[in-house]
Amino acid sequence: MISDLLMEKRPGDKGAWTPDPDEKMDIPGSLPFIGVHVVALVGVFFVGFSWAAMGICVAMYVLRMFAITAGYHRYFSHMSYKTSRWFQFVLAWVATSSTQMGPLWWVSHHRYHHMYSDTEEDVHSPIMRTVYWAHCGWILCKKYMQTINRLVRDLGRYPELVWLNKWHVVPGVVLAFTMLGVGKLAEAYAPGLGTNGAQMLIWGFFVSTVFLYHGTFTINSFCHLMGTRRYNTADSSRNSLFLALITLGEGWHNNHHRYPASERQGFFWYEIDITHYILVVLSWFGLVWGLKGPSEEVLAEAKFFDELKSSLNPGDRAAIGINEPPAKAKAQL
Ligand SMILES: [Zn+2]
Ligand SMILES: [Zn+2]
Repeated sequence: MISDLLMEKRPGDKGAWTPDPDEKMDIPGSLPFIGVHVVALVGVFFVGFSWAAMGICVAMYVLRMFAITAGYHRYFSHMSYKTSRWFQFVLAWVATSSTQMGPLWWVSHHRYHHMYSDTEEDVHSPIMRTVYWAHCGWILCKKYMQTINRLVRDLGRYPELVWLNKWHVVPGVVLAFTMLGVGKLAEAYAPGLGTNGAQMLIWGFFVSTVFLYHGTFTINSFCHLMGTRRYNTADSSRNSLFLALITLGEGWHNNHHRYPASERQGFFWYEIDITHYILVVLSWFGLVWGLKGPSEEVLAEAKFFDELKSSLNPGDRAAIGINEPPAKAKAQL
């Protein structure tokens, strides 16, 4: 069972990262990623600002972040709820338009992260490697451009997902042209909005894509560094309200590493998890169903650790892996 595999923890030895000569930036392969940043940064000075373009920029960020968190992550990677074949394709298409590679690639590397979190094997651990490498260095490296097929055999059964994985550039290009078209239509039929094709293309596609890159990547980099630790997991994952807000709920990463089978990542009402709220609404319309929550045991454990934490001084918390990752705790013992 893939869910059993994802629950498995391999503590591993934390130590210094031995750089692999193959782990370097692939300059030609990185040009599209760099290009999107340059076009966004330079473009805004040429096309100017309008509230309509800004509104679309935010909408495209939220829509695609939801598709990544609810689709790529909670559904495809962890199968934490169920949906129909057509809606899974919609989620995959929208997530792929964020230009973070295709569904099989994304899921295979994410499952690998859960199998080897913060060990030498983990490709994007900011503990074992550098923050830059965990954030975006690894995705600009040729060595990790391939899908790890053995980890996504379940998704390989769907030809439409395999096609999307191969032609992952298509949804992004379609979105860019859609933004251009929307801007041109607005210019022709709603001139009062003060926007045009070029402005909508820059804000709706390029600027929102840049924010989407870095919003998503914070989970791999900063969510293993900043925030608090409720569970003493073998990795260094943390819970952060700030990161949960910008990623629509993914910031409860320590909860998630403790119990990846749960669709809900904010385990209590005060842990804001916007993706979960949207999925609940979608479940009322029958678009998704079978949303899995944390087990009773995991919730009881949370209460135990929360109470324990409030009764301990910082040094003792670190010693048992609460609030400080195990590596640091080890050093302090
Ligand atoms: Zn993680
Ligand atoms: Zn995950």
